[in-house]
Amino acid sequence: MKQTGPLKPLDEALRQLLQCASPLSDAEIVSTFDADGRVLAQDLVSALQVPPQDNSSMDGYAVRCADLEAGDALAVTQRIAAGASGEALARGSVARIFTGAPIPAGADAVVMQEDCKVLDDGKVLVQAAVVPGQWIRRAGEDIACGAVVLPRGARLTPAALGLAASIGMSTLKVVRRPRVALFSTGDELVMPGEVAPDQMKPGTIYNSNRFFLRALLLRLGCEVSDLGIVPDRLDATVQALSSAAHEHDLILTSGGVSVGEEDHIKPAVQSLGSLDLWQLAIKPGKPFAYGRVQGAHLIGLPGNPVSSFVTFVLLVRPFLLRLQGLTQSSAGSILMPAHFTWPKADRRREFLRARRNTQGGLDLFANQSSGVLTSVVWADGLVDNPPGQTIAHGDSVRFIPLTEVLG
Ligand code: AMP
Ligand code: MG
Repeated sequence: MKQTGPLKPLDEALRQLLQCASPLSDAEIVSTFDADGRVLAQDLVSALQVPPQDNSSMDGYAVRCADLEAGDALAVTQRIAAGASGEALARGSVARIFTGAPIPAGADAVVMQEDCKVLDDGKVLVQAAVVPGQWIRRAGEDIACGAVVLPRGARLTPAALGLAASIGMSTLKVVRRPRVALFSTGDELVMPGEVAPDQMKPGTIYNSNRFFLRALLLRLGCEVSDLGIVPDRLDATVQALSSAAHEHDLILTSGGVSVGEEDHIKPAVQSLGSLDLWQLAIKPGKPFAYGRVQGAHLIGLPGNPVSSFVTFVLLVRPFLLRLQGLTQSSAGSILMPAHFTWPKADRRREFLRARRNTQGGLDLFANQSSGVLTSVVWADGLVDNPPGQTIAHGDSVRFIPLTEVLG
């Protein structure tokens, strides 16, 4: 396609896109077991302190430090296992105690069993210096009563589910899942399973975008209606978009987003609502569309698989996270040394498929073409290379780990 206007910088496109993503207001209650990846619809406030009481972080003996000054062996007057609660510690005695068990009143330290000698008469001799407070986990040292352990808008991770459980939450109020309609455009596309590899007609290819886009959407907590392949015809495209608009928050398409004769997304969306067709200043992934179709958002991704993948990560992912109420939603990057060279600068900001090596640097996939999906599978991240920038071996480059953005 010929370049008509100036290219739009990614940051500007992202800002504009996020402005359009007003967070979904509906919430639902789900079991804490099932809340991984969901977004909290309210602050999670603790009604108790964690741990609830001072408890031992060692197997050993609970002691009163003052009783140890004389250096005498002391009687063991009680045994406190995890789950039990002991009596106040009698003066001049110790309590046998195990990890997690509550510290008895009057005790002010725990001596680990390795530092004690049990004498024939059953008394215990402490053989190491003891500091008040040692091996005691303090009540409330993890969470204070009334503390906000996770704010509204936080995305729940496995550890966050554990944290919610630790304050007694068996259910959580989360933002409802975004409903996304997904379809692919292109008369060249056939589905795996429908045509065997040796039966493929010339000019046809398998629909790969449908598979990774669907999986990416599911990982982001979306409810996906997979509407299959829409033929390269205006009437079919209009029909597909208009029936998808009613029950979905977002219609996500791939392909057909340029302005060639076979690209029908633009006129179809324009006949039903509004559309901005952007030429993004990034590589891969130049053509990108955002529009509205009868109340639903529409995002049109480029058809080339790598472009589709990269624009999803850079733009659709933050958009969907913002819809779910996340405030911090863009992909984070870290600085890493390049163990490759990139001698030819591009006027667009590039996102190169790269992988961390065991020497603490980055290797680059040899073929950076936007059709080579192998590069994305091989890579574990993207090098975010500014416009007009070459890269020499050893240069520090910005790296966006895919592990961070695909979770
Ligand atoms: P388009 O954006 O429709 O012009 O497509 C650009 C390139 O991506 C063409 O080579 C298409 O064949 C290819 N392509 C489009 N959609 C898909 C898809 N769903 N799976 C694999 N390749 C695709
Ligand atoms: Mg096409």
